[in-house]
Amino acid sequence: MGGVCISSKSNPVIPNTTKNEIKLKPPIPSRHSNTDKPWFDIQYHDKDFTRIMKPNEIKSMMLKPPNAVNKTDLNRILGSLIGLALGDALGAHVEFRPYQYLCEHPVSDLQEGGTWGLVKGQFTDDTSMALCLATSLVVFRDFQPYDQLVRYKWWYRHGYMSSTGECFDIGAATRQSVLEFEERQKKFSMKHNIPYQDMDFLDDQNILSQFNVYCSDPAAAGNGGLMRLTPVPLFFHKDPAKAVEYSGISGKITHGDKRVYDACRFYGSLIVAALLGESKNQLLDKHFYQKHISWFGNEPLHEDIKKIAEGSYHNKKKGYVDGIRGKGFVVDSLEAALWAFSIDEGKFETGALAAVNLGDDTDTTAAIYGQLAGAYYGYDKLPKRWVDQVYAKEFITCLSEWIVYEGDNWFQNNSSSDTRL
Ligand SMILES: [Mg+2]
Repeated sequence: MGGVCISSKSNPVIPNTTKNEIKLKPPIPSRHSNTDKPWFDIQYHDKDFTRIMKPNEIKSMMLKPPNAVNKTDLNRILGSLIGLALGDALGAHVEFRPYQYLCEHPVSDLQEGGTWGLVKGQFTDDTSMALCLATSLVVFRDFQPYDQLVRYKWWYRHGYMSSTGECFDIGAATRQSVLEFEERQKKFSMKHNIPYQDMDFLDDQNILSQFNVYCSDPAAAGNGGLMRLTPVPLFFHKDPAKAVEYSGISGKITHGDKRVYDACRFYGSLIVAALLGESKNQLLDKHFYQKHISWFGNEPLHEDIKKIAEGSYHNKKKGYVDGIRGKGFVVDSLEAALWAFSIDEGKFETGALAAVNLGDDTDTTAAIYGQLAGAYYGYDKLPKRWVDQVYAKEFITCLSEWIVYEGDNWFQNNSSSDTRL
């Protein structure tokens, strides 16, 4: 890992505004993107923009999609998002604790307090950023990385999609990319003579195509892209090649290392396959990558990711003692999540707790596991005693319905014939 910038929550940056950092005004809530779903834009309780609306407070404003959505798809899509949130919430109170601590104090249930002092069921940056990504997809009805970065900025600056109303945990690489994005917005605003307060609401494709969204240090190899990935394969799963391509880009905009791009592409392909009904043996088959090679375009996986795709974790059944690690390096995280899925004996509880109890980046390892396991097992197979305690469950449910609805619409309107199933 020499020379690699491992910037994740194993090396967190707690946001606070320093003298050198300009405190930006909140965007004006009445100035929405051209959307028929204004409740997914940043909202405040007051005219002074001091009290942001949290996800569980938005739910009452939301409309459902006009038509009933496919229940099988919804079960898997909701399963994946709740699976992510559950893994996140299960690991949050012991985040940064080493493996030895978890051996002595194994996690067996949702807990309050600990690292961030959260209420039981509240989630951290993993789920908040995934909700930013999901809302962007359904508002734009497409993959729009500029708007994804806007929403990550809203989360960092204003607590958008946070379970507490504040961004209390951000990885170093994500923070660097968001700050770089702000700088580029300022320069772009001046160069194109666009008022700065309008910069968060650009929707002209000609203008947007001139904005370089790759804001990351090219050596950033933390797990911050993988931890929030799942809305992309969920939304685009009916066009696997697009889903895989967009999965990679969704990580690359904040984490520039090729291994992040490929970890997101490979994990995205597994989530797509789970939604398309492939069996667990098929998903964990060491030939999965070769069997689905047409989904990956002409760009082969990085060797480190290919080893995992070819089943490295199958030879590490004992987990930590065999070399599985819950660290913030994206290669470790991907292997650990797949190891947990491979040894969970068909039970979400078993896999999620195995991921948490590896220690270190506990919430993220379990959140990554939960994205795939939740999609594979489906919402109705997740442990009810835990699901009932997930923060903003109703909001996530309604958002999932919109992912099914707008994902179907996108497929009908945009998919190219040679990549369709
Ligand atoms: Mg987290």
